[in-house]
Amino acid sequence: MPQYVCENCGFVASLDKRLYICPVCGDPLTIMFDDKEMSFIPSGKGVWRYSSMLPITGKGAISLNEGGTQLHQSVRLYREIGVGSLMFKNEGLNPTASFKDRGMTVAVTKAFQEGAHGVICASTGNTAASLAAYAARAGIAGYVVVPEGAVATGKLMQARAYGAEIIHIKGNFDDALKAVSSLAMESNELYLVNSINPYRIEGQKTMAFEIYEDVGIPDWISIPVGNAGNITALWKGFKELYRIGVAKKLPRLIGVQAEGAAPIYRAFINGASSIEPVNNPSTVATAIRIGKPASWRRALKAIRESHGIMVAVSDEEIMSAYYSLSSKEGVFVEPASAASFAGLRKLSTQGLFKGNEMVVAILTGHGLKDPESAAKVPKKELTVEPTKEAIAGAILSPARVFR
Ligand SMILES: *Cc1c(COP(=O)(O)O)cnc(C)c1O
Ligand SMILES: [Zn+2]
Repeated sequence: MPQYVCENCGFVASLDKRLYICPVCGDPLTIMFDDKEMSFIPSGKGVWRYSSMLPITGKGAISLNEGGTQLHQSVRLYREIGVGSLMFKNEGLNPTASFKDRGMTVAVTKAFQEGAHGVICASTGNTAASLAAYAARAGIAGYVVVPEGAVATGKLMQARAYGAEIIHIKGNFDDALKAVSSLAMESNELYLVNSINPYRIEGQKTMAFEIYEDVGIPDWISIPVGNAGNITALWKGFKELYRIGVAKKLPRLIGVQAEGAAPIYRAFINGASSIEPVNNPSTVATAIRIGKPASWRRALKAIRESHGIMVAVSDEEIMSAYYSLSSKEGVFVEPASAASFAGLRKLSTQGLFKGNEMVVAILTGHGLKDPESAAKVPKKELTVEPTKEAIAGAILSPARVFR
């Protein structure tokens, strides 16, 4: 049977208990399978297509048909980066428009099976939106705790519309997660669905399986890193495919953090064995505005094991990548997602790529989530009289107002 394992101290426990973090050292727990317990027999669609690799079956799953997202082939930006092929894994195409749904379907299904009265999370926005949708679907209460004034409007509106109860705190995400996780650990009623919940990671690892089925094993995969659950999940998925002999090699990972919230990047660059938390994380990419990532240890391990690299990008680099993706590729994502392309762009100028690599950038969430950021791109807009001449004048005039 799969069991909980602490990758830090070696603690082991049965999945029968409700555990999130290691009772000995406090690190998030991992659900570990023996090689012979895993078989890669994809069947059906989306996340539950990979039930044979998951700790619970898809029977009676609380699902909104998450996963099965597209890989878009880059038509322009791959040349700028100087690689053979660049693909965008568009996680914005999930039901609530971020990758969080992959983990949420598994975690909320587990909560439902356990008879939990409600699910709760701390969130920078997308976990809240996702929790709210799956709680509605399950018919159980949803509670989300968010940093006041620091959540993109689209995400907050989603949580509201799905009927969740929203608690704003006068603090940042790290404060919220600390409070919410200690509350959930004392309560049988409230089931915690942050990415310290090992079932979240299980759902999210299916992203690796989809990439494998679509294109095999890329040379590099770039992914934005906030609380570091998703990079943990991505690496877990690929390693499992490799361990059971399905995949013959492993990709190298590129973890991207925002300069104002880059504790894992700093630890990587300094060759340190632990992170130095950032007390007041700041970045335009609110989804990765996290100073004390819960899964930092597993993220560092993933980067090092994969012979990968961490990179930090400025808000300017993020916003430039954001506009490049939408205006040059037709792929509209939120700023945190654009960080993964910003990281590739930066590493490319530093000479990382030789020219024939296959690279996948994980684009974690949809652009409509964050209208405040969309309002910052260069505007090509004009108001004119409602006549053919006026419109022609705007488009065709020698003054060429749009150029
Ligand atoms: C949650 C989130 C991230 C960060 O993922 P972690 O698992 O916290 O590292 C990045 N981008 C978006 C859009 C997100 O919602
Ligand atoms: Zn431990």
